[in-house]
Amino acid sequence: MTVNNPNTKKIVILGGGTAGWMAANLLHHYLAQYGFTISLIESPDIPTVGVGEGSTPQLRQFFKTLGIAEQDWMPACNATYKNGISFVNWSEKPGFDEYFHAFPSAPDRQTAAGFLQNCMSRRRGFNVDAHPNRYFLSATLAQQALSPKPKGQATVAINYAYHFDSVLLGKYLAKIAINSGVNYIQARCDKCHNHANGEIKSVELHTGEQIEGQLFIDCSGFRSVLLQQHLAVKFNSYQDSLFNDSAIAMPSNSEHVIQSQTLSTALSNGWAWKIPLTNRIGNGYVYSSQFISADEAEQELRTKLGLLDHADSAKHLSMKIGRVQQHWAKNCLAVGLSQGFIEPLEATALHLVQETIESFVSAFSAGRFTQQHQQQFNQRLNARFDGIRDYIVCHYKINSRDGNEYWRANRHNSNISDSLQNILQCWDQGGDITTEINRQQIAGYYPAVSWHCLLAGYGRFPEMHTAQRQTTTTDDNLQLIDGFIQECANNFQPHASALKFGSN
Ligand SMILES: Cc1cc2nc3c(=O)[nH]c(=O)nc-3n(C[C@H](O)[C@H](O)[C@H](O)COP(=O)(O)OP(=O)(O)OC[C@H]3O[C@@H](n4cnc5c(N)ncnc54)[C@H](O)[C@@H]3O)c2cc1C
Repeated sequence: MTVNNPNTKKIVILGGGTAGWMAANLLHHYLAQYGFTISLIESPDIPTVGVGEGSTPQLRQFFKTLGIAEQDWMPACNATYKNGISFVNWSEKPGFDEYFHAFPSAPDRQTAAGFLQNCMSRRRGFNVDAHPNRYFLSATLAQQALSPKPKGQATVAINYAYHFDSVLLGKYLAKIAINSGVNYIQARCDKCHNHANGEIKSVELHTGEQIEGQLFIDCSGFRSVLLQQHLAVKFNSYQDSLFNDSAIAMPSNSEHVIQSQTLSTALSNGWAWKIPLTNRIGNGYVYSSQFISADEAEQELRTKLGLLDHADSAKHLSMKIGRVQQHWAKNCLAVGLSQGFIEPLEATALHLVQETIESFVSAFSAGRFTQQHQQQFNQRLNARFDGIRDYIVCHYKINSRDGNEYWRANRHNSNISDSLQNILQCWDQGGDITTEINRQQIAGYYPAVSWHCLLAGYGRFPEMHTAQRQTTTTDDNLQLIDGFIQECANNFQPHASALKFGSN
């Protein structure tokens, strides 16, 4: 594929879910200046997945790139602020039944060193406080239902993410893209036609019309119509290390206080998400169909939520867990569920959508709009998917829940990567995790501090020599840390006020 003729620079996106509309906006933003035009085809008969309501901090950059302010998009998508994720009941170690995975920020530099030091001492059996919640500002903001937005003029900017209604976000992004000139075609793609060299020449709609293009972006969801079905690119399943393959989504009414965190609570055969929006709460159960039936899972979720009236609708979904071997093949790039899905535990899917498009644009333009850098691009994305997978697999591998086969099977599963095995070995043997993460060059996926939060948050420590105290981060220092964090937290707006955009 070489696109030099300005008359033939046509990008065709198949699929109008969140991935399709994010791709349309970003590709327009980066490539319209080179004369590319964009068409997006969406079947009115094939629904979007309609879930996916939590983000990572990366989504802030997406809106910044497009010049869209929070007060514009957040109210339109019933969005709220997210300081991080609380993991509840993943560990049965006393004192570790819950921990918070923070998005590390500048103020944490004052306190995180104490946490890392105490983790090391505790790994050596000393009796020190090494629970992550005490050391991160965003954990306190979440506990006190505060937003990540400072009061008055910002003195310290901290890292945060969002919760939003995914259907509304799709509609919002569609409007922006169409207004900026993206050509929207509502039709089903029934066939593809190739050039002699095997590249895609056109997609054929159910009306018989053929839409030609030079570059095709497959955003058709788990169907992966162009990349996996038409170009037959192979899929690497993660099912041997991530057992969950199904989900149920079920909304419930808002609570009195809108939380500024996602809750992820371990259940009998998976985990439940709780995502607070401004008008409702998004709930769901991600589970493994090998261990529990859809009916039993629905009953368990209903019982947990107190929604026993079956008039409250439940949406059942199947998930294909893994990634394609090549995200960009010939003149086709897959973005979103069509390229793979790791499972939603750390809400990383839209992060990967964004990263796929941004990396693609870099590689595509560096190669003067050819496939010159396709191989490096694919290697980079594969490493990224596998790196995130390992962090998520670790949540299951190190669980200490008893009582049923699902959790035991996860704990005893030996299908884990060498990378993860090395991290666990390093942690258990008292090695330096930061050095190990740097040695493996995986800090870009999850930094050492996130690995500490996870491993310490589950209480993965040896028995303590209770008599021994360690003179690292002592109780006096901890009180200083508590005071410092509370003083910082006092400067942040309550979540409810930060969401009143009209009056800010
Ligand atoms: C249970 C669950 C929870 C999740 N939670 C999160 C989360 O918290 N955070 C996060 O970032 N992500 C999450 N995700 C992932 C997130 O939902 C998706 O990454 C995101 O919605 C993008 O989906 P998509 O656009 O790739 O696919 P879809 O939403 O499935 O869209 C596919 C599009 O392709 C179109 N299409 C398909 N075939 C054709 C055809 N033949 N012709 C024309 N059009 C066609 C459809 O009409 C549709 O518009 C979750 C996913 C699941 C399953």
